[in-house]
Amino acid sequence: MMKESTVESFGIAFARHHMVEHQIARRGLKEPRLLAAFESVPRHAFVPDELRYAAYDDGALPIGFGQTISQPYIVALMTGLLDLKGDERVLEVGTGSGYQAAILAHLAREVFTIEFDHRLARRAEETLRALGLVNVRLFAGDGSLGWPAAAPFMGIIVAAAAPQVPKPLLDQLADGGRLVLPVNTLRYQLLELWIRHGKYYSHQVITSVKFVPLRGEYGKK
Ligand code: SAH
Repeated sequence: MMKESTVESFGIAFARHHMVEHQIARRGLKEPRLLAAFESVPRHAFVPDELRYAAYDDGALPIGFGQTISQPYIVALMTGLLDLKGDERVLEVGTGSGYQAAILAHLAREVFTIEFDHRLARRAEETLRALGLVNVRLFAGDGSLGWPAAAPFMGIIVAAAAPQVPKPLLDQLADGGRLVLPVNTLRYQLLELWIRHGKYYSHQVITSVKFVPLRGEYGKK
């Protein structure tokens, strides 16, 4: 028998609540502001029409042009690691559908997001505008170079796997700022958290993950 999607079983509103409860809170991410952000953002607005029934399921989904919208839990995990209080300026590399940017828009003051693929950038811009998220600025181009004119950032999230941590992103981190990104190793990718302490950085490995490759100057060659 085919597995029924959460939208088919419960309807959109309840499916979203179910996602927050079962995929995020019960896996240990319980920060109230974080959960509220996931309750408010309609993930189904960020997936292709024909996949809306699966918008609140526990996984990544294709969004066209060979790219994916990440699993909700992974978006929550990465967002939580930024430890946002609400007054920060943050950068996202790899806008994709715009879902992660929309979540950040609820948790930070200003969100800067960069998408390499112009077609995805245009679509994400429309979705974000339709939702009235006016504190998000989108740029179509190479995010591996960061967004120097808007730096420094208290938080940076990279949604594509880099061969190593792009130096421009470390440079554009504010003192005390946090950078979360998947880094390629020979056999798998590790999600890493980098924190800036003046001219020094500390870093730790969080878990293993699976992301599309980062392109551009500091991306996959
Ligand atoms: N955060 C997204 C998921 C993104 S998937 C979401 O919430 O839907 C990763 C995205 O990174 C893809 O859209 C890909 O085109 C983009 N990408 C890859 N390399 C990039 C680069 N150098 N700069 C900006 N975007 C990049």
